Amino acid sequence: MTHTQTKINLLDFSTEKLKTFFRERGEKPFRAVQLIKWIHQQGVNDFDQMSNLSKNLRLELKKIAEIRAPEVVLDQHSADGTHKWLLRLDDGNCIEVVFIPESNRGTLCISSQVGCALDCTFCSTARQGFNRNLTVAEIIGQLWIARKLLQQDPMGERVISNVVFMGMGEPLLNYNNVIDTIHLMLDDNAYGLSKRRVTVSTSGVVPALDKLTETVDIALAVSLHAPNDELRNQLVPLNKKYPINQLLDACNRFLEQKAARERITMEYVLLDGVNDSDKHAYELIRVLKNTPSKVNLIPFNPFPKTRYKCSSQQRINRFHDILAGAGLITMTRKTRGNDIDAACGQLAGKVNDKSRRDMHFIRLESNDA
Ligand code: SAH
Repeated sequence: MTHTQTKINLLDFSTEKLKTFFRERGEKPFRAVQLIKWIHQQGVNDFDQMSNLSKNLRLELKKIAEIRAPEVVLDQHSADGTHKWLLRLDDGNCIEVVFIPESNRGTLCISSQVGCALDCTFCSTARQGFNRNLTVAEIIGQLWIARKLLQQDPMGERVISNVVFMGMGEPLLNYNNVIDTIHLMLDDNAYGLSKRRVTVSTSGVVPALDKLTETVDIALAVSLHAPNDELRNQLVPLNKKYPINQLLDACNRFLEQKAARERITMEYVLLDGVNDSDKHAYELIRVLKNTPSKVNLIPFNPFPKTRYKCSSQQRINRFHDILAGAGLITMTRKTRGNDIDAACGQLAGKVNDKSRRDMHFIRLESNDA
């Protein structure tokens, strides 16, 4: 282990954990707020610049701690303004972060795990297997770095107004670290993002979704992709454990708890000849009847060796019109960053696969009560 790896990484600390850290060292807890502001509001990682901390405290912190984000190893810009960064973690794994600018907002798409254990058949992340959960430092580090780089953008500063957990991994299977990270994102002393502008996207881990409902107030997106269990079992194998009716019940509990939250975004990737017929559209309308939803249709982004094809534009339009005609709020997502493989489901990173996928699913099944 190198010297730096033995230091405490303060990027890993929520405000609460930092208060405890200072208390244990005989310092006042308000130091934690000062430090959180330096690290996250100002983007400073050099203790010498933290002018409102005493010299002794700075010296002490320098000895035992550091503020260390993952290292940027590749920085790509797409013709449409999308940015993609490849970040290398201490253990050699790599993850990708994508920034998508739009006229009225800037969205950062972040990862929560190295790879993914869920094996959705249409997702390229699944192909790479699973290695491990990301730490808080590695998740918040994506925002920390992206904001710094976008502030220095030669084309002018770009602001990150929205964060979506739609990169690699299933955020609800890395629950504690994702929650700590969300607290930092919403904290006015850190990033001060609006709770409507932080979105957790999940393939439907029902118990963790219920816990999330009780814990934080943010926006929710659900990767539905099919209107019945038979088809969803094939596309999102997690459905065998938490079928559609259980998932939608959990969505309704989420909506009941969040008085201000009117709808859940239902993501539906359109796969040619698989889930894109008129019949599927009508079935989807029926299934969502009792769950206030906004449907986000995602044209499938192909990747090497996939068995799927994207639906034709005509089919996408027809599917869209059937849903909208029934009064469902429907959007068709524009594919962004395609030329740099930054589109949904194309994020690759570099994963040292440890999943032994078969074993993993045996474990998932055996958890059944
Ligand atoms: N595990 C979480 C978050 C990651 S996926 C989840 O399942 O929601 C983020 C979104 O991209 C999901 O809706 C996912 O289904 C979609 N996606 C995955 N692969 C895709 C592909 N090849 N083309 C288009 N969308 C894809």
